[in-house]
Amino acid sequence: MKTLIKGGTIITASDTYEADLLIADDRIALMGADLPAEDAKVVDATGKMITPGGIDVHTHLELPFFGTVSSDDFYTGQKAAAFGGTTTHIDFVIQAKGESLHQAIENWHKKAGSKSAANYGFHVAITDLTDEVMDEIPSIADEGVTSLKLFMAYKGVFQVDDTTLFKSLMKAAEAGMITMVHAENGDVLDVLIKENVSTGNLATAYHAYSHPAWAEAEATMRAVALAGIAGAPLYVVHMTCEESVDQLRYGRERGLPVMGETCPQYLFFTVDNLCQSDGAKYVCSPPVRVEKDNEYLWNALAAGHLQAVSTDHCPFMYEGTKPIEYEGEQYQMAGKELGQGDFSKIPNGMHGIEDRMLVLWTYGVGKGRISPNKFVELTATNPAKIFGMYPSKGVVAVGADADLVIWDTEATKVISWKNMHTRTDHNVYEGWELIGLPERVYVRGQLLVHGETWNGEPGGGSYVRRSTHAQIV
Ligand SMILES: [Zn+2]
Repeated sequence: MKTLIKGGTIITASDTYEADLLIADDRIALMGADLPAEDAKVVDATGKMITPGGIDVHTHLELPFFGTVSSDDFYTGQKAAAFGGTTTHIDFVIQAKGESLHQAIENWHKKAGSKSAANYGFHVAITDLTDEVMDEIPSIADEGVTSLKLFMAYKGVFQVDDTTLFKSLMKAAEAGMITMVHAENGDVLDVLIKENVSTGNLATAYHAYSHPAWAEAEATMRAVALAGIAGAPLYVVHMTCEESVDQLRYGRERGLPVMGETCPQYLFFTVDNLCQSDGAKYVCSPPVRVEKDNEYLWNALAAGHLQAVSTDHCPFMYEGTKPIEYEGEQYQMAGKELGQGDFSKIPNGMHGIEDRMLVLWTYGVGKGRISPNKFVELTATNPAKIFGMYPSKGVVAVGADADLVIWDTEATKVISWKNMHTRTDHNVYEGWELIGLPERVYVRGQLLVHGETWNGEPGGGSYVRRSTHAQIV
């Protein structure tokens, strides 16, 4: 099967140029001026923009958490992703206590395989690092899982101590793998959360007051320093504030192999949103901060102090007592209402897999905060490089996978949860106007999204095996 896309403007992380592009089966076969159509189906992309499909390296689909389950599964989440221009995501396998990493990865394959409709890979989050698990780390690279995640927060649940963190940084580096951290000082958070709950400070905003910026900064600096000592690559997930990004910069300016991401919620929302009557929608960890941090993060992205924008997509229903309809079927799951009257019980997480590229395009590129090339770098190219998928993914080039988005930069839409595809009952960007939308989204050469038409199906997706010794950017 061949598709010839004619006359589009191709945007990569480094260049902007016009070219025709021939897709043969699942790859980009040819690029150049005035390519002949021959037996290919021709798509006219004159006046349109073509980018690599987005890559979201931080998602939690169908994750059991806070006594419920995140509301997107591998089908609905990937459908939502595709409508938002994202063709690949990496989900976090969470090791259960006492479980081997292989077993944990196997569980996630079972969960994803029959549902997935696009491209997906896995990180593994280690929660029980015994000697056997330590020895097992290098072997998971053979399964295409080349990144580990450790939590410096969630005391008594996921949190690891510094011995564990340091040893696994060394072990991962030896195997050519990268270590990711959730950087917040979990001991400090534990004290503050308990203190607020016991003194009756239960309002939603206390979620933020119990997760101060300096607790994130301290853990970030500690992780950066440990990575420096170990000579190990480090990737700090969901960075939210000036205090912590400054620590990352400190390490990078001294040549350490450390990188970081932020997520859209930290660019747009603040503790003021937590103070709203529907503040529970904005509860995620680390929390949304203050306006100066929104501004700081935009500048950090533009200046290259942060390397990627992911989502930490982990949606919950807002009113889980009421069912919604999704693809003609009823769906109901407990959600944010679990934390009514007590911030510490609100399921932590927000949607974003569909919204990420859309809001970054309109409110990032559209407002002059980042260039179109920077947009591609942050949402596709760097994620592919850092996590061992480049150059098959993250770039528009001959030989790369045909994961592509044709954008109509003049199309508009007003966001409502009802016209989005994430399986939940609200959208934190409700009422926001978008200018510039994906018109066609190809996943390995297949036209999955065409306007409002969805051609994907459960089980049609593909697992992405990632390579070791990925780039430091
Ligand atoms: Zn996460």
